[in-house]
Amino acid sequence: MLKNTIAIVGRPNVGKSTLFNRLVGQRKAIMDNESGVTRDRHYGHGEWTGKYFTVIDTGGYVHNSDDIFEGEINKQVKLAIDEADVVLFMVDADSGMHGLDEEFANTLRRYIGKKPIYLVANKADTHARAHASGEFYALGLGDAEIFPISSQNGAGTGDLLDAVVAHFDDPWEEEPESGLPKIAVVGRPNVGKSSLVNLLLGEERTIVTDIAGTTRDSISTRYTAFGNDFLLVDTAGLRRKAKVSEDIEFYSNMRSLRALEECDVCIVMLDATRSIEAQDVNIIALADKNRKGIVILVNKWDLIENKETNTAKEFEAKIMEKIAPIAYPPVLFVSVLNKQRVHKAIETAIEVVANKRRKIPTSQLNDVMLKVIEKYPPPIQKGKLVRIKYATQLPTHNPVFAFFCNLPQYVGASYTRYLENRMRENFDFSGVPIGIVFRKK
Ligand code: GDP
Ligand code: GDP
Repeated sequence: MLKNTIAIVGRPNVGKSTLFNRLVGQRKAIMDNESGVTRDRHYGHGEWTGKYFTVIDTGGYVHNSDDIFEGEINKQVKLAIDEADVVLFMVDADSGMHGLDEEFANTLRRYIGKKPIYLVANKADTHARAHASGEFYALGLGDAEIFPISSQNGAGTGDLLDAVVAHFDDPWEEEPESGLPKIAVVGRPNVGKSSLVNLLLGEERTIVTDIAGTTRDSISTRYTAFGNDFLLVDTAGLRRKAKVSEDIEFYSNMRSLRALEECDVCIVMLDATRSIEAQDVNIIALADKNRKGIVILVNKWDLIENKETNTAKEFEAKIMEKIAPIAYPPVLFVSVLNKQRVHKAIETAIEVVANKRRKIPTSQLNDVMLKVIEKYPPPIQKGKLVRIKYATQLPTHNPVFAFFCNLPQYVGASYTRYLENRMRENFDFSGVPIGIVFRKK
């Protein structure tokens, strides 16, 4: 399974960071270092034609000056090869070939055929420079096509992305659903992730086996806890507390991202003594975008004094307001320390996985939804009357419902929301993002 990760390698000053910024837009790194001292700017997320991807600017992790040496090049390339599915090797079409480009090419050549490697000639701001970029064929990277681009003005980046995302999974694509529920525990530092994992490890558990994931840091452990059988993604990274250094911070962030990408459902932990912050919202938005099930755990509920009947409700309302329009995750209030409602939390996560795999038979879907549509048909837009004839669930990994109609392009967002809300009232999709699409019939 590909994880949709792109790494950019190349000597200093060719424009790696500039391309990185263009690919991830103005979006911030999703998980900042808690201390705020070393804010991680070297990986981020982007999207192209509906496919989401992670970008790593490997240059940010090595010494960045013109006197880089072989060790740095090896480190950068190794990081890219280990972490990425597609490697962009960037050179500078303005200044032309440079000795270090050849050294990078020599190191990369070993991996030809193992990972897709694209040669990107940056600073091709003009046609003349784009043409001149042919000189880089001399780097001898097999059949690697050269993509002349300008990270600065965007020229050529669309063609490059078309080629790159062709290697990636489509979140809508059909996939066989399989096996045990995969649960990941994510959240900011100190919310209690390791405590939860250790509790699962320490109690009522049978660790059946460690299953190595696709990268050396990604491990899933099989549990039979609280009467349920499931895989906990990436427990190794949680159990072993990282030392504070930029590399380790980077790897631990990468691990959280991987865990999120690999799971069916993520348990997003919040700290009851702190209000929900931008980073929490970002994690939830990312899970939603990746079409993961979500359960929100508000941990350390034991620390809240003078709880009244409304305290949890008000807290939950605040969360829902912050994460709107995402409205489907269940919110539970737990104390890992006192082992309160942890059982319920795991049970809920497993229910969410079941909801995610739920298939509604077409007849049942139409019995319910055609009545709903009859009661409130799509409003006339620009004089067009939309007639929805029937609906069916697509054979996708995540619940997506196609509504067949005469004029799919005239169905508005508010009507889509209306259908989604009625779907959720009639069928249990708690904790799961659902897709509503309109197809022509
Ligand atoms: P890095 O060291 O590889 O990350 O390179 P940077 O992204 O920091 O870019 C190095 C310099 O090249 C900066 O001054 C950028 O503004 C400039 N640069 C980056 N991309 C382009 C481009 O497409 N065209 C031109 N003309 N300059 C660029
Ligand atoms: P992580 O960084 O998210 O893995 O967080 P840890 O599991 O290391 O927990 C951070 C701190 O919060 C530790 O001192 C834990 O003992 C404490 N902690 C975790 N869960 C609870 C809880 O439910 N209640 C209280 N009062 N403290 C907790």
